[in-house]
Amino acid sequence: MESIYLPAILGGLWITIKHFFAKKVTIRYPEVKKRFSKVWRGLHVLKKDEQGKERCTACGLCALACPAEAITMEAAERKKGEEHLYREEKYAATYEINMLRCIFCGLCEEACPKHAIFLTSEELVASNQDRGAMIYGKDKLVEKIHHPNGKVRGGGPLDPKMYHGENATYLSTFEGISNS
Ligand code: SF4
Ligand code: SF4
Repeated sequence: MESIYLPAILGGLWITIKHFFAKKVTIRYPEVKKRFSKVWRGLHVLKKDEQGKERCTACGLCALACPAEAITMEAAERKKGEEHLYREEKYAATYEINMLRCIFCGLCEEACPKHAIFLTSEELVASNQDRGAMIYGKDKLVEKIHHPNGKVRGGGPLDPKMYHGENATYLSTFEGISNS
C-alpha cells in the first residue's frame, strides 16, 4: 500500500480540502486593517487645539525623555500674524522623529506638558526600504484637522482617550474595504 503512495496522496488532498473551506485567518492587508488593542502604541501625532493651532511649544522635554534619542526639533519665535497657527510664542519650526530608532514606549507622550504629542492606537508606521523616509517630519506628524474623506481625526477638544481606543474615530480604511 505504501509503495503506491495512495494513502499519502489522499491524506494530503484531505488536508488541502479542509483548509480550503476553513475560516481564513489572514486578511487582505493593507486594504483591510484590523483594530488594534486599546493600549497599543502606533504612529505619533502632533496635536492641534480646538482652534487648529499647534500645541507644541518646542520645549524639548519629549526629546529629553526619549530613551532612543529619536526626537529632534528646532524652535522658532512666533511672528506677528501667526497667532492662528501656533498656540504659544515659541513653536517647533522643525520636529522630527526617527522611526528607525523609536521603540514606541510612549515616554514622549508622558513627558509633554502641553498634551501636544500622542501615540495613536490606530495607525502603523509603515516600513520603508529608504532610511531617509523613516525620518518623520511635521508634514507627517502634525494632525490634519479635516481628513480628506471628511472624517475628523482627533481634531476636537483634547481627549487622551481618543488615542487609546475609547471614543476613537477610526478612518474608514480601518473598517475594511467595504466601508472605504
Ligand atoms: S515613543 Fe519612546 S522611543 Fe519613540 S519617540 Fe517617543 S519617547 Fe522616543
Ligand atoms: S511635543 Fe510636547 S514635550 Fe515635545 S517639544 Fe512639543 S510641547 Fe515640548
